Amino acid sequence: MKHHPWPALPAPLVPKIPSGKSIAVTGGAGFLGSHLCQALLAQGHHVVCLDNFATGSPDNLRRFVATNRFTLVEQDVVLPFPCDLPRFDEIWNLACPASPAHYQRDPVRTLFICADGARRVLERATEDGARVFHASTSEVYGDPDVHPQPETYVGHVNPVGPRACYDEGKRFAEAVFTEGCARAGLDLRMARIFNTYGPRMHPDDGRVVSNFVVQALRGDDITLYGDGSQTRSFCYVDDLIAGFLALMALDEDPGGPVNLGNPVETRMDELADLVVALTGSRSRIVRRPLPVDDPRRRRPDIAKARALLGWQPAVPLRTGLERTIAHFGERVAAAFEPFAPPAALAAAARPLAGGVMAS
Ligand code: NAD
Ligand code: UDP
Repeated sequence: MKHHPWPALPAPLVPKIPSGKSIAVTGGAGFLGSHLCQALLAQGHHVVCLDNFATGSPDNLRRFVATNRFTLVEQDVVLPFPCDLPRFDEIWNLACPASPAHYQRDPVRTLFICADGARRVLERATEDGARVFHASTSEVYGDPDVHPQPETYVGHVNPVGPRACYDEGKRFAEAVFTEGCARAGLDLRMARIFNTYGPRMHPDDGRVVSNFVVQALRGDDITLYGDGSQTRSFCYVDDLIAGFLALMALDEDPGGPVNLGNPVETRMDELADLVVALTGSRSRIVRRPLPVDDPRRRRPDIAKARALLGWQPAVPLRTGLERTIAHFGERVAAAFEPFAPPAALAAAARPLAGGVMAS
């Protein structure tokens, strides 16, 4: 197990509340995970992030060190939790490649990250009596023939297609947590997350918002797959994290998974046009083949989240895109520098000699 050494940083960014909870976040170095760690630290909690940097990066977390309540552990979630970590009140399970390009790179491994990751989180939560949060996905609905998708819809998934490794892995993980937490008497909160975007997405992870924005900023061709009529519903990351926190804090049992996403539906050709307009780019929009099994439509029914949590997204797509463009704009302007590959960052890490909570 490696604990990450950190350089000295400026004064703490968030106030310290000594009574905070002890919380583990798997996949905390990724896009959503890093925003989640930030929000939990801002609430005064102690956060241990476990990540193997497959698609995330310690760079996403560097600023949190100054709180003295943050620890980064290099760890593969398929392995048992390290035994020298403190007892946890909550475990949030986000570790999993999320972009189709990433999860299709090694499909069998993706299935086992979902399966063994769920098993390891469940084992540790059972030991600690921790509340569990699982990051599930709208992909459990597959290419839906019910629209919009409520939590009661059981889905339309091809079990042998190129997306099956993710879709079926996530469905299996939902089953593991549902049965396992019930038998162990643990509180379980599962969010079915619909396409979420914002700062700290990996610029090369192949998802549509980061692809279009980076392509537009670089003046490259914008790659529209298929005829662009397929839809997604895009949620800005701050809205999603607010939904995460509300769901985890809910006292009553939510009775299964809860959809979290923005119900405003957008066609991919409209998204491409909007990104071109907002960036003022001269990029051309070019057609590429539609990937196999690409869902035609996707929109969350968020009635359950509204009723249980009083939650709904507040950030319109245009505003969220402007913030995302500003974020990527700074990085692209930095002389088109390639982003440090996660493997190189991981190799640069060296273990700390001391105790677990050194941060
Ligand atoms: P991401 O790729 O940025 O983050 C995933 C994180 O998990 C990365 O830090 C990665 O290094 C880590 N990870 C991957 N495999 C691991 C392993 N074996 N052991 C330890 N760490 C590992 O993706 P994201 O968008 O932040 O997604 C986070 C979670 O939310 C995922 O579980 C994903 O399935 C789910 N989700 C995200 C979205 C979305 O729109 N962003 C939608 C639905 C579901
Ligand atoms: N897409 C696209 N161009 C890209 C990347 C994606 O047109 O460069 C399309 C993709 O075919 C899908 C939609 O955008 O219809 C969302 O793709 P993404 O990979 O972001 O998420 P997912 O398909 O998992 O919802």
